[in-house]
Parts: sequence; C-alpha cells; structure tokens
Amino acid sequence: MLIYNTLTRLKERFVPIHEGRVGMYVCGPTVYGDPHLGHARPSITFDVLFRYMKQLGYKVRYVRNITDVGHLEHDADEGEDKIAKKARLEQLEPMEVAQYYTNRYHAAMAALNVLPPSIEPHATGHIIEQEELVKEILANGYAYESNGSVYFDVEKYDRDHKYGVLSGRNLDEVRNASRELDGVGEKRAQADFALWKKAQPEHIMRWPSPWSDGFPGWHCECTAMGRKYLGSHFDIHGGGMDLVFPHHECEIAQAVASQGEPMVRYWMHNNMITINGKKMGKSLGNFITLEQFFTGDHELLEQAYSPMTVRFFILQAHYRGTVDFSNEALKAAEKAYERMLDGWHRLQELKPADTSSVSVAEFRSRCAEAMDDDLNTPIVIATLFDACKVVNQVNDGNATLTAHDIEELKSVFGTYLFDVLGVRDDSAGGDGVDLTPYKKAVDLLLEVRKNAKAARDWATSDLIRDRLNEAGFDVKDTKDGFEWKVR
Ligand code: ZN
Repeated sequence: MLIYNTLTRLKERFVPIHEGRVGMYVCGPTVYGDPHLGHARPSITFDVLFRYMKQLGYKVRYVRNITDVGHLEHDADEGEDKIAKKARLEQLEPMEVAQYYTNRYHAAMAALNVLPPSIEPHATGHIIEQEELVKEILANGYAYESNGSVYFDVEKYDRDHKYGVLSGRNLDEVRNASRELDGVGEKRAQADFALWKKAQPEHIMRWPSPWSDGFPGWHCECTAMGRKYLGSHFDIHGGGMDLVFPHHECEIAQAVASQGEPMVRYWMHNNMITINGKKMGKSLGNFITLEQFFTGDHELLEQAYSPMTVRFFILQAHYRGTVDFSNEALKAAEKAYERMLDGWHRLQELKPADTSSVSVAEFRSRCAEAMDDDLNTPIVIATLFDACKVVNQVNDGNATLTAHDIEELKSVFGTYLFDVLGVRDDSAGGDGVDLTPYKKAVDLLLEVRKNAKAARDWATSDLIRDRLNEAGFDVKDTKDGFEWKVR
C-alpha cells in the first residue's frame, strides 16, 4: 500500500488518476459550534494546495465535506450525536443547527480568503451511499451485525491486511487505547468500530436501514462521499493530524474492506495549533473563535487581529510544524503582512530605468521550488521579502530596474502572494470597490500640500496633514515627495 505523508513528490508532478483531474478530499467541519482557530489551519493549508495545483495547470476537483450526523461526543462512536445534542439544548431542529453553523463557517472562510471547494457534500445527504458501503463490507466478511448495529471487524481485517498502516499503531496499542465502555456487549472486540448505529428511542436523527432505524458511523461518510465524487481511486486526502487516528485509519480499512484496495494515494496532514503553548480546549479557557480573533473580544487577546493577519501567520509556518498563537507572535505577523503590502504598493510606484542594476530573475523559480518542496510557504514568504528589499533599494535610489523587470516582480507577487498564498490586499478595500479615485484624491491633497510647503504656506500644509491624520491616514515625507497609507 502506498502511503505518503508529505507532498515532497509534488516536485516530480503526478499524473492525476481520476478523469484527468486531481481528486482532493479534505475532512470538513462538524457543524455544531462556532468556527474557531482549529478550523483555520486545515482550511488554509488545503486552500493553498488547491490554489497551487490550479496554478500548475491541473484540473482539480476539491471535495470538502460537512459533517452533520454521526460525529458522537466521545470522538469515536459513543455518546450523543454532537449536532443532536446542540439541537436538544437549544430546542432546534438538528438541520437548523447544522445550517446555522455551516453559514458561520462559510462566512469565516470567506473572511480568511479561503476559496470554496468544488463540491461540499453533507453526510446527511448521503445516507444511501453510506448504507451501500456498509453492505459491501458486510458482504466481504469484514463486518458483523449486532443488536441492530453494524461493527467493523478490526481483528479479522488486521489478519488479512494489517490495520494501522497510516498511524503506525499496532493492534495491541489500539486495543489499549479503546474505551472500555464503547459498544459494551455488542462488539466482538475492543478495537472494532461502528459502521451503523441503532438509534436509541430518544435519538432524533435516524434513517431506516436493513439493520435498524439508526445512523451511520462517523468514519463512513468520507469513504462513501470520496468515492462518489472522486472515484474509487483518487490522489489526495487531507485533514488535521488529529484525524490520522482513528478517523483516517478507519477510512483506509473501510476502503480496502469494501473494494479490496486503498482509495487514496497521498495522505496529507496539517499539524495542530496551540495557544500560548497549550492545546486549545473549551475546558482550558483558551478556546478562541475566529470571530473573537477578528473583533479582539476575548480576555486572552490584547487586540483584534484581521483575517489576513491570521492567514499570514499560519502561512509563515510550514504546515507540518506546530503553530503557537500568542499576542506577540500575532502582532509580529501583522507587521510582517503590512511590510509585505508596503513593498507591493511601492512596487506600483517605481520609476523604470534603462538598465537594471540588480537581478530579479531568481524570485519566481525560488517560489516555485519552495512550493514544490511539500508546500514550503515560509520560504515563499521569505523570498517575497527579499523581493521587497530590491523594491526598497530602487525606491531609495540605490538600485535601478527596467520596466520589464518591474513587470516581472509584479507578476511574481501576483502569482505567489495573491493567487497561490491567497493573501488579500485588505488596504485595497473589500467588496470589489475600486479605490483608485479615492487614492487619486488623497494624492491630489498631498500635491497641494507639497506646493504649499514650497511656498512656505505652513498653515495650509499643516492643515492638510492634520486633517488626513484625523481621517486615519499616515503621511510620511520622503526625499522626493510623500508616502501615505491608511492606518
Ligand atoms: Zn473525514
């Protein structure tokens, strides 16, 4: 079985194995609570991969699911359904809960400039496909029915195919890690997991099946929906590292038990996020939603952090490394994002020369090499900062660039900063509003001020500067004029 835990092989390019396109499946959110920092990292990591694949010219079908049934309280397959529980507490229909939090998730993703996937299937919309999967596994002898529920026979699967290939766990470790109480009296062995659960009388989310009125086990949906939309073999399956075991391990077992061979070629997992060195968790009091980051409304936050600061911060680390959120680190990321955009804005104003005194040839290839090397986004950002240095040298009169080289730099920023890393220039105004006329108006005011200064009309000069300051503009005098930006 081929298992890759990194995309280093992106360097060699690969031949998409389903209908000439790259099939990419990423485990999406369980929609029962506000989107939080833990959602931001996988969505941004796989957004960058999606963007880069398209940049390379691949056709990509990106499937990111919505889990709206079957994800039980104790992560594996015991306890109350997370959405049903929320619905009970808030006296709502479960689909109201799912829709509400799906909308919130979409809004947060749009703020982070995460592109929507090609298909966003819901688990509740694919109960029939999941039942078909369970039937296949039963027919192949790798599952058994017990009291209206169906369990995957991990012991038998392990004898024939070896369970634990992705996480590197052996069956003894899995047995020891399983909860004593899980499916007690129903399961043949501790490590077995549920493919179908019979619903208790009070359980409101239920569907008819050959075994009982019930609901699918959490691991079924990704195998069933991945195969439906990407075929029985597809290229990339991603998610957070916390999903390696048991979720993805179970998905591999379900695929092999149903179709005789694995479904996925490359597994890819982003590392986790910590807050001040600690894992984020409701019980630890450091659970921060994305909205709280954007508004600063949380006792651990010293200020608000814009969605682009959060995105930039996440991309400054390699996706397989840990990221620790602290106010210091976020403030540094905010500054870095601003410096990068300053470089981009200065680049627009550079005056071309007849010859270039510095070379800009290697920036594009350095960015490409970094992306090909398992999506090394921190190296791409460092390369773009090197490009900013060249821009500053030219801006300060210490170097020259031809019009051709200036255009090349603009193109490198356009491709890698905006298209591939998905960084958005928030100073440019959102909602597609063209700010060019407003910028020209500010430039005009500052021209008037420059003339006033030349004429020693200090009253007018100071008035313009102070009023612009009050309106939220930072004005800086430079050697041959002025620079301004919105604070
Ligand atoms: Zn999944």
